[in-house]
Amino acid sequence: MIILKGAEAAAQIQREVEERLKALGGYVPTLAIVRVGEKPDDLSYERGALSRMKKFGLRAESHAWPADISMEEFGERFRRISEDGDVDGILLLRPLPPQLDEREIERMIDPGKDLDGISPENVAKVFLGDRDGFAPCTAEAVIRILKTYQVPMEGKRAVIVGRSPVVGRPLAMLFLQEHATVTVCHTRTRDLERECREADILVSAAGKAGMIGGNHVREGAVAVDVGINVTPEGKLCGDMDFEAVSGKAAMATPVPGGVGAVTTAVLAEHLVRAAERRKEQGRV
Ligand code: NDP
Repeated sequence: MIILKGAEAAAQIQREVEERLKALGGYVPTLAIVRVGEKPDDLSYERGALSRMKKFGLRAESHAWPADISMEEFGERFRRISEDGDVDGILLLRPLPPQLDEREIERMIDPGKDLDGISPENVAKVFLGDRDGFAPCTAEAVIRILKTYQVPMEGKRAVIVGRSPVVGRPLAMLFLQEHATVTVCHTRTRDLERECREADILVSAAGKAGMIGGNHVREGAVAVDVGINVTPEGKLCGDMDFEAVSGKAAMATPVPGGVGAVTTAVLAEHLVRAAERRKEQGRV
């Protein structure tokens, strides 16, 4: 069984980013991370993103706002960042507290700076298969890790467990772009094991520790685990029972060290792409 290592895909992205930065002639793109409150998940993602940007030679700044910020105040500050000529890309950490209207906020962000693909314009582009748009970084990270290991997708059956707007849904669209045949499963799916066993490529993005076992995996399939869960002992784990799954799969991603390690590298690539476009448009 081959372990699909996120670090391999991230290193490949780093090489591409370094080449493209040279072509930008010394311009260093800037990422603005917006965080509301102090949720441990957000803090950990922010730390990961900051260190990745630094490693790739990119600039990043954090904007941490109070958990009880009003919608009006949030909108004012967020628009300022979106319109800031020195900011090339934005990452908004979500979910947001209930007083903030996410639908409205998605419409405030400049689509050209919307690195995690939350604006209606980018959502539509991903839906239509227009590669010009920014897809959510985690969904794209799944495709990137498969491409790094030259896993063929064309004509293959991809089964995704999870239909969230952040992972499952956009990933279904990205698999379609790669000419895979796609099934999306969720909590109302009737026989999850049977659906999963049909997969040439099985992706789990449910957020349930160990819910995918050996019975869900066809012999020789490729298993990609997007889930990030914490065990009662405080250990990080995915949705897949790695031992059981690796007994059947030909290739599988670990957690940690799999998809999560690629997500911030994709974010960095999106930042460079955003800066390249702004340069073309004479905005930097
Ligand atoms: P959500 O909770 O928004 O969505 C989970 C999806 O999984 C839902 O569509 C849900 O179905 C489905 N699901 C949950 N339990 C089951 C089940 N028992 N059987 C079938 N389907 C099920 O989560 P996210 O999409 O935001 O995240 C998913 C996981 O990915 C989490 O563990 C998260 O931490 C991780 N993640 C990892 C990232 C990374 O960089 N590696 C980044 C983002 C997320 P239904 O719609 O019917 O409720």
